[in-house]
Amino acid sequence: MQERIKNNSGVSLTFTDDSITWESGISRLRFPYGSIKQVRIGFLGFEITPCEGNTLTFAFNKQYKPLMQKMLAFTQNAMRSAPPAKPINLTAEKDAEKKAVADAIEKQRREIVSKNEHRMRCNVCGHIFCYTDADVRESQSHQNWAKAHAAASLFGTRLDAYGQQSRMDSELSKVVDFSRCPACRSNNITEIKEGETTQQPQSAPAPASSAVEEIKKYKELLDMGIITQEEFDTKKKQLLGL
Ligand SMILES: [Zn+2]
Repeated sequence: MQERIKNNSGVSLTFTDDSITWESGISRLRFPYGSIKQVRIGFLGFEITPCEGNTLTFAFNKQYKPLMQKMLAFTQNAMRSAPPAKPINLTAEKDAEKKAVADAIEKQRREIVSKNEHRMRCNVCGHIFCYTDADVRESQSHQNWAKAHAAASLFGTRLDAYGQQSRMDSELSKVVDFSRCPACRSNNITEIKEGETTQQPQSAPAPASSAVEEIKKYKELLDMGIITQEEFDTKKKQLLGL
C-alpha cells in the first residue's frame, strides 16, 4: 500500500504499510505508526501528533476530504497493532541526496569547462590567457562575414563597395588570433594542463653581494676569536661556492 497526497504548499504525506512520511521542501520526517499518539482531521487539516514532538498539520484541498478520511481510518487501525517506535528524521538523508546531486552537476560542469576552456602561457613574456571553443567559433564567424563583405565589395556598385569595405573592416577588427600571445604577439605559447600551477618561476638565487656580507660577519667573528681560521676558511669556501 502506498498513498501519496500533496497539497498546494508543496507538502506531501505518504502513507505506507508501516509509516507516514511528511515531506516539505526543507524537511522529511517519517512516523512509524507506533510513534504516533493521535491522528485526526481538525479545522486546519490532517493532524499528526507524535508521542514525542509537536503536532504537524497537513492542510488539504476540500476535494481530498473523502481520501483523507479513508487514510485517517487506515492510520488509526495501523496504530493499534504497531510496535512502539520513534519518529525518524530523514532530513539529513535528504541533504546528503541533494549534495550528491549538486556534486554530480558540478563534476559535469567542470568536465564541460575543461573540455572547452584553454589556458595558455606565453613562453616569451610569461603572460597567461584563456579562451574557450565558443570564442574561437565567434572569431571564425567574424572572419567569415569579413570574407563575405570583401566579396560583395568587388561585385556591388561603387557606392556600395565603400559600405561593404567598412563592414569588412569592422568584422576583421573582431577577429582574434588565438595562436598568438595577446600581450607580446609571440606565437611561442603552450597550453597549461589541468592541475599545473600557473605560478611564475621562483626568482633567481640571492645575489652574490649577500655572500660577501656573510663573509664579513664571519671575519668579525674570526677577529674576535670566536671562530678559528680553519672554520672561517670552510665557511668562506661554502659561501662563495668554491
Ligand atoms: Zn607574450
